[in-house]
Amino acid sequence: MLSSYSYSALGTFQTCPRKFKFEYFEKPEIPKSITADAYMGNAVHRALDVLYRAPLGGTVIPLEEIIRFYRAEWEKPDRKYIMVVNEYQTVDDYIEEGRKMLEEYYDKYKPFNLGKTIGTEMNVRFRLENPPFNIKAKIDRLWKRNDNVIEICDYKTGRMPQEGVNDRSFYQQMGLYQLAVQAKFPHWEDIELVQYYLKFDEQIRRRLRADELDELKEQIRVTIVETIKAEQLDNFPTRESGLCNYCEYYKLCPAKRHRLVLEEEEGAEGSEKTTFENAARRVDLFLTRHRQLGELKAEIEALKEDMVRFARDLGINKLTGSEGEVSVKISRSEKFVTKTEDPQAFAELTSLVRKIGFEEYFKLDEKALMKEIYQKERLTPELLETFKKYVVIKEDKRVTPHHNKKDDDDE
Ligand code: SF4
Repeated sequence: MLSSYSYSALGTFQTCPRKFKFEYFEKPEIPKSITADAYMGNAVHRALDVLYRAPLGGTVIPLEEIIRFYRAEWEKPDRKYIMVVNEYQTVDDYIEEGRKMLEEYYDKYKPFNLGKTIGTEMNVRFRLENPPFNIKAKIDRLWKRNDNVIEICDYKTGRMPQEGVNDRSFYQQMGLYQLAVQAKFPHWEDIELVQYYLKFDEQIRRRLRADELDELKEQIRVTIVETIKAEQLDNFPTRESGLCNYCEYYKLCPAKRHRLVLEEEEGAEGSEKTTFENAARRVDLFLTRHRQLGELKAEIEALKEDMVRFARDLGINKLTGSEGEVSVKISRSEKFVTKTEDPQAFAELTSLVRKIGFEEYFKLDEKALMKEIYQKERLTPELLETFKKYVVIKEDKRVTPHHNKKDDDDE
């Protein structure tokens, strides 16, 4: 269990549990590298921090000085540790992109007198109760506007979310910041959450209702419980996505390593290398057989359809060939609607059966019970203990083939 949880830690767990394990438990020694996007974001944040710290003392730093500071930030790291994921861009492109964002922001908001900055890059901690978990938030800028509204602001240098104000990550990140600020300053009530998208000169603004904040507390609690369960069971699966290209642990990742070793980008030697190569041969055989099986199954389904059609057309229920016979039984019976076919009708049927007292005909949905109730710990501590008696740890082995696309699939 972590000593405290941040939006970033919880987000990492939700995006990829394996990355969470690398980041917060294994902490492997890896060559220090950072993507140009991330470095640019950090450098812009540091420059804005410098800009807003100064007005606390009543002076406004000239733009040239901010840009000089920003450029100096880029001189600090060795360029070879900055990764550029997009092959059409260079580190210099990122430097210029960040400079442009700072200049536009500066021109728009100078002389920065729309309110009073309370803090920048503020670390705020609070405790979530029942059970107690420590939560920490790092807020880019907290300020009191001239209209007396407290604004929690966060700067973004990347893309805007398509969902805009309804973006889930806005709610999770900014909501967590609001919980932290309200825990520290309980008398503040009028709080607005704002994300500034510097590249687009756009903002997303939102106020959260008390019930939305309560729901968020529950979501945070559930995610923390999931991380603790994952730790207890050592269950941190990889979750591949487009974000893998930005992952610092790519070369160590169990989902990437085999390919890297075969491409000899990352070393494996001697017997380990042979094992990797043997595994590659078995992979190919498995994929070939799997494809053949798929084709065979499709052919069998089509033949079954043919059998049924012939039986209907000829008015018979047994078909004969030189290899043997095939029985075709077409029958009709009454069945209740299933949950998948019609969820609404199924819910009505369920409540009807309950109302008339036929509970014994209900099948226990043990999967939903595990996922929604037990794993999210939505039980009293006593009941949780009672349920524990019936829980067994099982290993689930799932082997999922991913066939390469055939050339003619592209057409
Ligand atoms: S490379 Fe992708 S799957 Fe692997 S740890 Fe990183 S984010 Fe997860």
